[in-house]
Amino acid sequence: MAKKQSKGSSRVSKGNSKQNKYVYSFGGGKADGRADMKNLLGGKGANLAEMAGHKNLRLPVPPGFTITTEVCVYFLANQRKYPAPLKEQVNGAMRKIEQIMGKKFGDAENPLLVSVRSGARKSMPGMMETVLNVGLTEKTIQGLIKKTGNPRFVYDAYRRLITMYSDVVMEKAAGIEPKDGKGIRARLEEILHELKKNKGIKNDSDISTEDLKILCARYKERIKEILKKEFPDTAQEQLWGGIGAVFSSWNGKRAFSYRRIEGIPDEWGTAVNVQSMAFGNMGNNSCTGVAFTRNPGNGENQFYGEYLVNAQGEDVVAGIRTPAPINEYSQSDHNKDLPTLSQLNPKVYKQLEEIRYRLEQHCKDMQDLEFTVEEGVLFMLQCRSGKRNGPAAVRMAMDMLKEKLIGKEDVVQRVTPSQLDELLHPIIDPKEEVKAKLLGKGLPAGPGGATGQIVFTTEDAVSWHKQGKQVILVREETNPEDVEGMRAAEAILTARGGMTSHAALVARGWGKCCIVGCSEMEIDLPKKQMHAGGLTLKEGDWITLNGTKGKFYHYRLTMIDAAQENKLFHDFLKICDSIRSLKIRTNADTPEDAAKARVFGAEGIGLFRTEHMFYGKHSEEPLFKLRKMILSKDSSERRRALADLFPHVKKDIKATLDAMHGYPVTIRLLDPPLHEFVPHHQDQQQELANSLGIALEELEKRAATLRESNPMMGHRGVRLGITYPEVTEMQVRAIFEAAVELTKEGKNIFPEVMIPVICSVNELKDQAELTQKVYREVCLKYNVKGIPHLFGTMIEVPRAALTADEIALEAEFFSFGTNDLTQMGFGFSRDDIGGFLPDYLQKGILPEDPFQSIDLKGIGQLISIAVTKGRSVKKDLKIGICGEHGGDPASIDFCHKVGMNYVSCSPYRVPIARLAAAQATLNSPIKKWKK
Ligand code: PEP
Ligand code: MG
Repeated sequence: MAKKQSKGSSRVSKGNSKQNKYVYSFGGGKADGRADMKNLLGGKGANLAEMAGHKNLRLPVPPGFTITTEVCVYFLANQRKYPAPLKEQVNGAMRKIEQIMGKKFGDAENPLLVSVRSGARKSMPGMMETVLNVGLTEKTIQGLIKKTGNPRFVYDAYRRLITMYSDVVMEKAAGIEPKDGKGIRARLEEILHELKKNKGIKNDSDISTEDLKILCARYKERIKEILKKEFPDTAQEQLWGGIGAVFSSWNGKRAFSYRRIEGIPDEWGTAVNVQSMAFGNMGNNSCTGVAFTRNPGNGENQFYGEYLVNAQGEDVVAGIRTPAPINEYSQSDHNKDLPTLSQLNPKVYKQLEEIRYRLEQHCKDMQDLEFTVEEGVLFMLQCRSGKRNGPAAVRMAMDMLKEKLIGKEDVVQRVTPSQLDELLHPIIDPKEEVKAKLLGKGLPAGPGGATGQIVFTTEDAVSWHKQGKQVILVREETNPEDVEGMRAAEAILTARGGMTSHAALVARGWGKCCIVGCSEMEIDLPKKQMHAGGLTLKEGDWITLNGTKGKFYHYRLTMIDAAQENKLFHDFLKICDSIRSLKIRTNADTPEDAAKARVFGAEGIGLFRTEHMFYGKHSEEPLFKLRKMILSKDSSERRRALADLFPHVKKDIKATLDAMHGYPVTIRLLDPPLHEFVPHHQDQQQELANSLGIALEELEKRAATLRESNPMMGHRGVRLGITYPEVTEMQVRAIFEAAVELTKEGKNIFPEVMIPVICSVNELKDQAELTQKVYREVCLKYNVKGIPHLFGTMIEVPRAALTADEIALEAEFFSFGTNDLTQMGFGFSRDDIGGFLPDYLQKGILPEDPFQSIDLKGIGQLISIAVTKGRSVKKDLKIGICGEHGGDPASIDFCHKVGMNYVSCSPYRVPIARLAAAQATLNSPIKKWKK
């Protein structure tokens, strides 16, 4: 909500100081906390406080209190002990709830029941534990029955408490590993299913009071039998058991995996929220639901949500029953026959809509709300900034700008680079989709298309993914335990669950394609098979999902790009452009790539690797000629071969300069070690030998002299131009001639000649002289006074970085080749790091792959030194980056801070770089360098 994070006033250092505040109350129009105290109170606690206590809101929040995240950290570090004053503070806060509610915790006549929930700084949906209905005991049951006159409701609540408590507190938090993987919850559910089967009952809501009573007794017996402990029968014991279990769940398996994936630090800890229960299961005038103030799937400014009549919150998020829509807008094929909340209870719906409006005005962002209606009275249980996918994030930000809810700078901060990336993700080719075999339909929980091979378990998803396979995780229902499998899968497909079930929330947050609630699909887990659309599909069969429509098809269908036509996407990026100070270029070696990058907004080419014309399509002829050049005996033979090669090189460069006309194009001279181009097949070698007029043996001898033990540190880059000046001359001539000819055609052409892999200024001087000589010759040949161009170098060898002040005297620009700079800075082979990197990451020796994100401490320092030294002798030295890091948001942030003029990345990363550069400007609005 509010932007600034307050540190909060409490400190847990000794754990016994009286003035430490560990517990923050809320309710009755007042609250100790605020929205900006998320670090201390967790997201949920801080927002509950804001909803309950802020003067613009004062919403109907059931009273409660939050135990701070610092207590969690203390608890986990001190053998599950609490700071000494906690107990008294909890008792005090409980008394406040009792006063507001007019009930008493543990009282036989008028008992108060509470929920105990987690709440970390950043939302971790479904990853930690919750216990509801705490305070129900043999003693209080009777009081509650008398009070409510509804024994069925009371025993149903008791059954739920026993199930949750035994699972969360008595088993998981106690560290008990269930035998053969079947936990106590599953064991209790067996009893429930058996009873339902015997009585011929389908829905839980049809179980009679008597049967619920019997179930509760059987549950307790089974718990004693399996866990060897009595189910606790005092409210206090239940409360503290619940609190400890929620704190412990911070270190549970799911939470741990989720934190790894989301990059959430282990030290944060979770808060615990204890709150008076509001019952959505008190009959047909009660319900519970989840709503979003705007549609999180596509961003439309429409109230969107689901609810379940006569149910508790866990039923909605667990995705066990398919929920009903709150309004007409939220209807889908699956729930259109169920009554909407607006029909069922127009008064409550209106109140909820009004709260939606007030919350958005106050929080200035889309909110995800949890609510409960207890016998016609609305209660707000939670509100937080809602997770959304990329398309929705862009749409909401742009709409909120139009609505004047937020400004341009907020718009840029509202979309993460990875959300934007989702817009660049594929959709199914519509031409194929119309013809495809439809297997089934479900709820469109995460948009876009995905294709992959079916797997039925998280373990399979993870292991198949590791083998490089594309998988679709197919599950009966959504389960937060599946988080790693969901991550590994291209998409998720479930038979049960609604739009707000865990899988849907998590998938949406990650921008994954996801379809839930495909009720016609049947899964046979033991056989690893599914039945859908009249077919039986096995593990490994290909299917394709359209997550936008909620449809899935047989076989692998072709995917195409979605972003290029999206106007909002382009408008959003224009806003980014108006803020960023870094220019964005692209690494492109073909006119096609250059054209694509222009559509994505590239402002020039930062790296054109000349050698690419010798790979791939139409490369046979130039490659043959290059090989002749490489295997020439002497300079005169080489010059002949180069003259032959020249037209190809010129044509290629000219086409790309043309495709990028109006913008600068950095053309790097030949870089790889020459032996890479030597043919390996004998017939190719023979053909080459014939063409050179030599015997095969002679050719083999020549090729052998090119072989190197350490080619990446061998005869490559500028070293080739030093030994074979004619190679540099040919390339530079091709560049200048292509530029003049295009200029004569009226195009604006700006080539930048770039020398790779230098380590000394003397290398650059040598190449500068050659370049100048050819430049004069070309000017003379074409009778032009000059050819606009720049001459510069890559900085990719540590010595070059450290002597950048000397080098800058000879260069008009620097471009950091961070691939090689990382390779040589670390001494890690960029081609072989995969062999040991996983161990380095797992042992925490490296925080991440340094070839993906610039290592700020080491490589970043080299860059910083080079920038400072370079600019110390040439104030306006143009500086950019063309290593792979140029498309990585964290590295872009660094490039901005260090004062580069531009970053260059692959065409598909250009939009992401435009956004990341704008965010970098907002994060550190430093002096803009001259562009
Ligand atoms: C680099 O080293 O960062 C670079 C861009 O050059 P290449 O990847 O071609 O070696
Ligand atoms: Mg390099």
